[in-house]
Amino acid sequence: MSNILGFPRIGKNRELKKALESFWSGKSNEEELQQVAKDLRAKHWELQKELDFVCVNDFSLYDNVLDLAYALNAKPKRFKDLSGLEGYFAMARGHNVGVACEMTKWFNTNYHYVVPELSDEDNYKANANKIIKQYQEALSLGYKPKIQLIGLFTFFALSKITQGETKAIFDKLKKTYLELIEQITTLGEVMIEFSEPIFVKGLNVANNLESIYNNQMIECVYNEISQKGIKVIVSTFFEHSCELTEILLKTNIYGIGLDFVYGEKNKQSLEALAKSDKVLYAGVIDGRNIWITDLESKLALLDSINAFIPKERIVISSSCSLLHLPFSKEGEDNIESEILSWLSFAKEKIAELKTLELVFKGEKAAKQSLEENAKTILSRKNSLKTNNQKIRNRIQQNTLKQRNMNFKERLELQKNALNLPILPTTTIGSFPQTPELRALRLDYKKGNIDKATYEKGIKEYIKDCVAFQESIGIDVLVHGEPERNDMVEYFGEQLEGFVFSSNAWVQSYGSRCVKPPIIYGDVERKNPMTIEWITFAQSLTKKVMKGMLTGPVTILNWSFVRDDLPRHLVCEQISLAIADEIDDLQKAGISIIQVDEAAFKEGYPLRKENIKEYEKWALECFKTSTAIASPQTQIHTHMCYSEFNDIIKTIEALDADVISIETARSGNELLKVFKEVGYTHEVGPGVYDIHSPRIPNTEEIKKQIQALLEVLPKEQLWINPDCGLKTRKWEEVKPSLKNMVEAVKVIRSS
Ligand code: GLN
Ligand code: ZN
Repeated sequence: MSNILGFPRIGKNRELKKALESFWSGKSNEEELQQVAKDLRAKHWELQKELDFVCVNDFSLYDNVLDLAYALNAKPKRFKDLSGLEGYFAMARGHNVGVACEMTKWFNTNYHYVVPELSDEDNYKANANKIIKQYQEALSLGYKPKIQLIGLFTFFALSKITQGETKAIFDKLKKTYLELIEQITTLGEVMIEFSEPIFVKGLNVANNLESIYNNQMIECVYNEISQKGIKVIVSTFFEHSCELTEILLKTNIYGIGLDFVYGEKNKQSLEALAKSDKVLYAGVIDGRNIWITDLESKLALLDSINAFIPKERIVISSSCSLLHLPFSKEGEDNIESEILSWLSFAKEKIAELKTLELVFKGEKAAKQSLEENAKTILSRKNSLKTNNQKIRNRIQQNTLKQRNMNFKERLELQKNALNLPILPTTTIGSFPQTPELRALRLDYKKGNIDKATYEKGIKEYIKDCVAFQESIGIDVLVHGEPERNDMVEYFGEQLEGFVFSSNAWVQSYGSRCVKPPIIYGDVERKNPMTIEWITFAQSLTKKVMKGMLTGPVTILNWSFVRDDLPRHLVCEQISLAIADEIDDLQKAGISIIQVDEAAFKEGYPLRKENIKEYEKWALECFKTSTAIASPQTQIHTHMCYSEFNDIIKTIEALDADVISIETARSGNELLKVFKEVGYTHEVGPGVYDIHSPRIPNTEEIKKQIQALLEVLPKEQLWINPDCGLKTRKWEEVKPSLKNMVEAVKVIRSS
């Protein structure tokens, strides 16, 4: 038997994205949108028909967590008068009656869910109509459906309590959740796969939730659901969930889904599982990465599982929903055929699952597929593209792993060399990406314009950008990043070992998709990547021009990374490529270089016990990339988030001379932790929020700076916005930055 936990819903050619955006802009109506959705579901079920069941309710117009909130009528008060799609999209995207709910990352993926808001004033009410309808839709097309539903515990843990007592709200919500299941039972004896990824965090998910996340409660809820005549599977993924498996084994559920790709330790539960009567949904095919499956090794894994559990009780499964994969590799004609043969996206993973199932059953017919697979695996293993000895040797021999002078001494040299005023002003790198600029890059990419025309256009932008910064008196200038489409793609395109797909989109949130670079081989920098633009920009001004790079950890965390090498080794290779660039920049006379690590925190493991290891190598990689900087070269870094409390020591250990961070939205709470730990390096806490079009006035920025000065001494502070300005318009950026510089001048002279 074989199973997946969900299929990507955006569509082969992002049909859902297009339909949603057309609906939002009023170009199409609800009926047309629903028709596109229905067609997509039908197409996606067709692709799953070889599996035992097709997934129902994995589809969503925006997000599954939001769907569940809506099905329970867990709606924030500000939207209480809105219903139907209007109310649904209001929670996701905001409405003139109130702002949208927050959005945050779904565990350690790049998918973002809408955070439900719960309060004791809520009026929960179950409505399973949508689920029931889609179930019947699948039935009427002749498929055998299985319902995917987010588990109560995961839903609750991911929600935000806005008012009231936690346990009381949980009890109320639980009642309605059970009513929702009750409604589903009108369909007869259905199978529901409950996703409970929160269980991989162990029992201590959060403080003050002990009354909810305990053996009794979990047992009780799943027993109650099982009693309703439903076949219940509870699945966890992204890590092992040994502690919770123990509890689930005491319940009457039908099956347990475990991730053996990202949660090897789940093997420890096999003995206990064997003694139970439960069916094991063994997640052995990687649902998150795009590489072909090594069927032989998966077969060995299945055999080791089978040593405990009889074959009749094993369902071969994907490790998680295939939502995090692109649709299919068909049509990726720009990728070299050898590399393409190593890839497997959602559609291909289903075929692999099926083959694995047949082989596991011992069917001879599958032998040929197995042999072909072994050949491809071998070609990947032995290819020169994946084994560049020169790069491997360089990594081994590299001894330059940290800067060779301590921060205090470096700082002295830098202060003398740079001669900056107190509270130096700067920006994070990018300036507005105008439609003209995007068109220019696209025209060049498509070959509609020649190199000279393209470069002229980019240089014009840089000139304007520099002139503007000089005119308002910013101290450390940037070139504005007009040549960059994306902070990772720009570097990936110039590095060896990366490949870019034309259509491998993955949903990030709502209608938004990303197309992550694919790191297939050893990474190396062949030629300088930024020197030309930065030195051109520097030639236009006597002020300091800041070089702008993306850091190794961020490049890694925002790519699909090869799975035949440990992540830290891939990251090390990227580090040396960045080091080469830093060296060239400083040799070209650039004295401040920013190495952005926007996604440093995203790589943190889900389980506490693995954090140390990640921090160790991520830190080492950042340090390796910047070690080449001479003491006079000032290294900046930038991070986009505001929760530093638990990682502040690691941040300091990065040893960047200056770090700019997001504080504008979180007030100065964040800064306090810098003070508490006696943070010595320089800090640029964002003084205004660039995520909103609002223009801050001089007075409020002045107040913000004064507040900062109460926490950290002026010698340690830089003044800057809280992130890059590329998503803003010039009309917003110009007055905002002008006011920022103005505010600093007032403070300096007071
Ligand atoms: N230098 C980048 C920019 O300004 C940083 C982007 C980011 O932090 N996400 O756009
Ligand atoms: Zn940022």
